Amino acid sequence: MNSSRRNLLKLATAASALAATGTIPAIIEKAFAADDVTPAASKPLPWHNWSGGQSCNPVARAAPANEAELADLLKKTPTPIRAVGAGHSFSGLVPTDGTLLTLDRMSGVIDHDPATHQASVWAGTRLGAMGDALAKRGLALDNMPDINKQSLAGAISTSTHGTGVDIGSLSTFVQGLTLVTASGDIIDCDATTKPDIFNAARVSIGSLGMITKVRLQARPLYKLKRRTWIAPIDEMLEQIPDLEAKNRNFEFYYIPFSGMALGIINNETDEPETPTPVNEDDDGLRELKMLEDWLGWAPSLRRWAIQKALGGRPAEERVDYSHKTLSTERGVRFNEMEYHLPREVAPAALREIIDTIEKNNIKVFFPIEFRTIAPDDIWLSPFYQRKTCSIAVHQFHEWDYHPYFAAIEPIYRKHEGRPHWGKLNTLTAKDFETLYPKWEDFLEVREELDPEGKFLNPYLKKVFGVA
Ligand SMILES: Cc1cc2nc3c(=O)[nH]c(=O)nc-3n(C[C@H](O)[C@H](O)[C@H](O)COP(=O)(O)OP(=O)(O)OC[C@H]3O[C@@H](n4cnc5c(N)ncnc54)[C@H](O)[C@@H]3O)c2cc1C
Repeated sequence: MNSSRRNLLKLATAASALAATGTIPAIIEKAFAADDVTPAASKPLPWHNWSGGQSCNPVARAAPANEAELADLLKKTPTPIRAVGAGHSFSGLVPTDGTLLTLDRMSGVIDHDPATHQASVWAGTRLGAMGDALAKRGLALDNMPDINKQSLAGAISTSTHGTGVDIGSLSTFVQGLTLVTASGDIIDCDATTKPDIFNAARVSIGSLGMITKVRLQARPLYKLKRRTWIAPIDEMLEQIPDLEAKNRNFEFYYIPFSGMALGIINNETDEPETPTPVNEDDDGLRELKMLEDWLGWAPSLRRWAIQKALGGRPAEERVDYSHKTLSTERGVRFNEMEYHLPREVAPAALREIIDTIEKNNIKVFFPIEFRTIAPDDIWLSPFYQRKTCSIAVHQFHEWDYHPYFAAIEPIYRKHEGRPHWGKLNTLTAKDFETLYPKWEDFLEVREELDPEGKFLNPYLKKVFGVA
């Protein structure tokens, strides 16, 4: 077969793979990597994240198919080496002018134990695909984040979470994992085998090596009844302790300049599934944007218009399997800052955030999200030994987020908030050191596993205080 035909076949295979994974450049790059291509044809494509706020031009991209290939590659590929999952982080974790690595070809459920409900999963698996694959085996995760586009490794690396007073982040479901380090060593760890590496690696922002496999604690498949309703924000804030205590999952969104909040609860049920409703979230956001565009200059008129539109809206209910109800689609892009605060101070902090926005007439229409997360014992988890509520602010992706986030971040910091690792913040190593009791222990493990700093891009150097 001549080389152009061979390349055409490779391209066709790569194209069908990308349709499945949505990661064009890595797979095409891989398809051409080892063969007789001109340098121009093999120049890696630029990368950007979901919001468009982070970007880079790596000199190499790679998508290894197995651990041996990955171990070999890590020894010789240009640095900094950064892993990318689905590119859904907002902070500067991923950009590199060295090598961008995806595990999209290491995807799927490997096996499961029906007795313990544990499943081993390749780390490149997207959460949505994993939900379906686990359901086929009669299993589900205890919780899910707002969306299911993330890769498993990407999600646990930043302590991605959902909501629920007694439910931890996705990293707390991890019972064991495999890490391929900068020197090409393949390390299996869990609570008893190499426990320090395990405690560090469960939330490690891609700084210890590539996570290739994860053993997850799942549970038998279950259904949830979801209820959404609108209430005045004062009423919602007053009811937080009650709503948290009486419901499996509780969260709410405050709609800026409205005085109104949208509450969401989920509780287990055996009731039959209801038809999947049309997702109107994006339409709602477009309407809120329109009101900002037209009435941003007149906050009280805007408040009246939003209350008029929302008032009298009946509560809605839906029953479905957990992996289908807990995550939704997000079509309107944004940049986000989310801090995790001690639970007892969070309602007051939210009031302060609302006042700051509305007194200063800050240009924003995206609702503010309020969630609850259980404490854990993972060294760099923002929920480390702390009962937490998280408060997230979002800005439309076409608007400069800096003025808004700069006005809100001091409120988070005043209350000793810990930022979400995947979301925007301005903290440095000095700040993290005071927020994380196990900071030094983590740095020791990082130094031991990656003494040459192969995984450190400029952002991670700032985070870890490495010159
Ligand atoms: C629309 C939207 C909704 C979101 N909703 C939520 C939510 O409800 N709750 C929440 O907590 N967060 C949420 N997030 C944030 C998101 O879950 C995290 O930023 C998550 O880390 C993104 O996963 P990813 O697969 O895109 O990873 P990336 O953003 O690509 O990477 C994240 C980190 O993981 C590392 N990494 C990736 N793969 C590997 C690997 N194999 N080995 C080692 N390190 C690796 C990367 O180097 C990086 O440090 C949301 C983000 C968006 C855009």
